[in-house]
Amino acid sequence: MTMHRLLARQLRQSTDESGQVDMTRLVELVSAAYEESDRDRRRTDRAIKLMIEELEQTHKRAEQDLLRAREFLDSIIENIPIAVFAKDARDSRYILLNRAGEEYYGMPREEMLGKTPEQLFPDDIARVVHEQDRRVVDSGTPMVLEGHLLEVGVHGHDRVVNSRKLLVRDGNGAPQYLVGVIEDVTERITNEARISHLAHHDALTDLPNRSAFNEALTERLEHAQEASTSFAVLSLDLDRFKDVNDVFGHPVGDMMMRAAAERLVTEADGAFVARIGGDEFMILMPDDIRREDVLSLAERLVEAIGTELEVDDYLSHVGLSVGIAVYPDDGVDAATLLANADSALYRAKREGRGRVCFFETEMDRELRDRRLLQHDLRQAMEQNQLLVYFQPQARMDGEIIGFEALVRWNHPTRGFVPPDQFIPLAEENGLIIEIGEWVLREACREAASWPRPLQVAVNLSPVQFQAGDLERSIHQILLETGLAPTRLEVEITEGVLIGDFTRALSLLRRLKALGIRIAMDDFGTGYSSLSYLQSFPFDKIKIDRSFILNLEATPQSAEIVRAVLSLAHALQIPVVAEGVETEAQRAFLEGEACEEMQGYLIGRPEPIERYFDLIGINVERRRYA
Ligand SMILES: [Mg+2]
Repeated sequence: MTMHRLLARQLRQSTDESGQVDMTRLVELVSAAYEESDRDRRRTDRAIKLMIEELEQTHKRAEQDLLRAREFLDSIIENIPIAVFAKDARDSRYILLNRAGEEYYGMPREEMLGKTPEQLFPDDIARVVHEQDRRVVDSGTPMVLEGHLLEVGVHGHDRVVNSRKLLVRDGNGAPQYLVGVIEDVTERITNEARISHLAHHDALTDLPNRSAFNEALTERLEHAQEASTSFAVLSLDLDRFKDVNDVFGHPVGDMMMRAAAERLVTEADGAFVARIGGDEFMILMPDDIRREDVLSLAERLVEAIGTELEVDDYLSHVGLSVGIAVYPDDGVDAATLLANADSALYRAKREGRGRVCFFETEMDRELRDRRLLQHDLRQAMEQNQLLVYFQPQARMDGEIIGFEALVRWNHPTRGFVPPDQFIPLAEENGLIIEIGEWVLREACREAASWPRPLQVAVNLSPVQFQAGDLERSIHQILLETGLAPTRLEVEITEGVLIGDFTRALSLLRRLKALGIRIAMDDFGTGYSSLSYLQSFPFDKIKIDRSFILNLEATPQSAEIVRAVLSLAHALQIPVVAEGVETEAQRAFLEGEACEEMQGYLIGRPEPIERYFDLIGINVERRRYA
């Protein structure tokens, strides 16, 4: 109700029927209205005041909450055990740093906040930090650095940290802050390194262990395959180390082992040395090293270990054997290389310890064995290791007509070496000339001493025909021993006629002219035996033992024997069958009119003493003659 309407109503209420205004009544009415209005205003004021108070409290609570939240966050950031910082994205000025950050940088935040890296760090470091910051700001890509050495800070360069830096943008997407964390991982890395060290090292010597060696070998193989290089694997074994433990006990044995390991490492020249168990070690040599270098290193190791070891007044002699395998010659995978290094080590041990052996393939081994045998053969002559054995030859009725002289070698360590092994070696190095002459002389001397004038057959090597003066030497031996040339028969193979055919033929003719008989040996095994029969009047043909051996088993052998016999008969050349071992074979040969035989059925090659009765010597007479 507006004021004039309220006043109109109050005037109406104060006016009587005659239109007279009761002033007292009007004043009362107006006063009452004023009082009413005052009450209303006061009520309103109170309500407003209450609302303001309420608002103020709410605001205060919100402020307190905000403050608490901020304190909470601050406290978290402050106490995080990794360094946290924030910088202004525009100029890299530090605007926040927590306690770990102060420790990391080694300065209180009051000194750092508000400053740029250029104002805080030495030039070179400031430049690196600045560049990193710019890169993060420009690219918007976080920077992550793991396991790098600390570049600034109080701890110096022996701490390892992981750090991250990233960009925070404002509401409009413009670069605002650079936030970073730096975590010191030195302890963790040290622990990891220690655990890894324990897993890969031998506890006693602290050398890499078998598993570390295997890893290194695998790595080396991969590298060598890619780069096409070679490398050597050495397998080492201490000789007599067990004795050290047995004599002095394990504590001293352990000390000796450590000392031995140290020597190996010292001498190994930076090569990878591992202890793979007991008294076994392995060494990986660097790439592309020459065999001589590997050998000289191995020999140095053998010498170093072979020198007296002294530990705590205990003296000991151990030795070292080494086996070597080389990639790729001796294997292209780990298993083969290891097996072959071990096989070489085994040989080094077998050959008398304290040795170095390279792995040898079967072929290498045979070659080496041949060389050794050849070397020994020279000594055999000087040391009377060669012997002449005699094998009887008989007619088909069993009557002995003579002997074939056969050389035998009684090697001091190998025992009897089969002739088909050493004769080719002697032919190879020419020693056969000397050996052949010696056998001839022994056979002739022996035969000359027999009461019965039996023949003696001696084998001649093709080499004797090619080199040396065979004719003169035979002549001289016959004179020297007094053996009638007619009692000597020489057996030649077709090898004699291959090569200088004319020369061989004329020599054979001259020998025949002396009265010596010439026999064609091993008939049927060559390629052109038949044509040779035509070229020279042989006195005898010896059918090779292989045909006689198979007489009963293969019909072809019987046919060949028959054919040879009929051919020889046509040429009027007598035939000796070699290798006759059974009565059935003898009966067959007799049936085919074979003239003579030789073989176990008649007698084996033996020292002549076994055949004294056959040569007409009474044992007693020979002994006291
Ligand atoms: Mg012979």
